[in-house]
Amino acid sequence: MTDRRTALVTGASRGLGLETCRQLADRGLRVILTSRHDDGAAAAKLLGLEHELLDVSADASVRALTERLRVGDVTLDVLVNNAGISMDGFDARVVRETLDVNFFGAMRVTDALLPLVSEGGQILMVSSGMGELACVRPPLRDKLADPELSRVELVRLMSSFVEDVARGRHEAAGWPSSAYSVSKVGLNALVRILARDLAPHVRVNAVCPGWVRTDMGGPSAERDVATGAASIVVMAATAEGPTGGFFRDGRPVSW
Ligand code: NDP
Repeated sequence: MTDRRTALVTGASRGLGLETCRQLADRGLRVILTSRHDDGAAAAKLLGLEHELLDVSADASVRALTERLRVGDVTLDVLVNNAGISMDGFDARVVRETLDVNFFGAMRVTDALLPLVSEGGQILMVSSGMGELACVRPPLRDKLADPELSRVELVRLMSSFVEDVARGRHEAAGWPSSAYSVSKVGLNALVRILARDLAPHVRVNAVCPGWVRTDMGGPSAERDVATGAASIVVMAATAEGPTGGFFRDGRPVSW
């Protein structure tokens, strides 16, 4: 048992997740670094942090982690849903796999770990400026922006994107030709729904790290990984604050 606040970060074998763990530990939090492969254990050991295996796209992996944490009597004050992929190409398989990690993965992990999140705790979704609502055309945009949007309807809309791409009609339906953008549009909508449903017990926010020089962001990106992770950490480290917002560098940005 510990009096320190506890954070769990997904997809932390490298890139922003790993650096977020390092910075949160620097701020004195107990940090559980998770990764889908064993490489994360070595990374955690180097930082002196705890490690757990977690593949956000696999129900069994999420269930197993939840059970290990429950048995260990772990309470989470911060859950950082950071794991994400950006795949080359655009077809139904790319869309399905991208949504399964970036959207459904974050939802799966959040649902499973929510009972372990403390009263007043915070769930953070690592999103992107590429998930701005403007990339979706009305009337679809209006449905996704609707403050009354239900979770069932959101899941139906995300699933319809896969179907629309498979049938070659996604543009007619109002979707962009980017699995990554749509996954983050969906993630942002999920943030608004969860924030509404979980208030005042648990805060739920989206964060954008900016364009960062990681494997995903590439070498031309504007920001180093420390600066990008700081945009996540400045929100993650707060014990009190807003809910249902989208933030970059601690400042609100529009959806
Ligand atoms: P990286 O590609 O460098 O790292 C992605 C991380 O996610 C890796 O640790 C990877 O693990 C992990 N991951 C992928 N799939 C899974 C899975 N199924 N289960 C668990 N972990 C998984 O990306 P970044 O660090 O740049 O991105 C982190 C987050 O930030 C993402 O959500 C991304 O969308 C977001 N973001 C990034 C930006 C950028 O410019 N870099 C800009 C805006 C948002 P493994 O090593 O096993 O592959």
